[in-house]
Amino acid sequence: MLHTVYVGLGSNLDNPIQQIKQALLALNQVPQTTLLNHSALYHSVPLGPPQPDYINAVAVLCTYLSPLALLSQLQTIENQQRRIRSAQQRWGPRTLDLDILLYGNKQSADPVLTLPHPGLYQRTFVLYPLYECDPHLLLPNGQRLQDLVSACPPDGLTKLSVVVS
Ligand code: ATP
Ligand code: MG
Ligand code: MG
Repeated sequence: MLHTVYVGLGSNLDNPIQQIKQALLALNQVPQTTLLNHSALYHSVPLGPPQPDYINAVAVLCTYLSPLALLSQLQTIENQQRRIRSAQQRWGPRTLDLDILLYGNKQSADPVLTLPHPGLYQRTFVLYPLYECDPHLLLPNGQRLQDLVSACPPDGLTKLSVVVS
């Protein structure tokens, strides 16, 4: 069955704009999956430990892959772009982070793949690009994306005019 999936992209190391462009190309190559659309690139001020600013975006895919098979494909792309995971530090700087924000209306509390992504509800760098992709989106719990965006001022977030073809 075909599922609509929203993927959050983030990078703050080794030319973040290029990393996000490269990741969008890679997403378009994932088997049994089509990249339907993506947001503009956004510049955001980081959460977590002191680190460089981020470039973020959201991509819309449709896929026949299962949630875990898609997660595995996304982790392969992170690794191809030399994402280094630190056991000591969570939310540290990274060349590429690909998170599954929404997989259809699936809800799961499994820590291996939590759906919707638990950061979705309050992160400006997720909410605004997601809203750009689909302003009428309803979350699996029935909440309107528009209401979350209204409750979340875009502090520290700037939409870039860089063209991504
Ligand atoms: P955050 O998830 O708060 O944005 P992060 O993206 O920096 O933090 P990672 O180091 O990329 O965290 O991933 C840690 C683990 O999170 C992964 O091994 C993965 O199994 C798990 N995970 C749980 N839910 C998701 C999801 N919706 N998308 C991607 N990874 C997830
Ligand atoms: Mg993340
Ligand atoms: Mg992640």
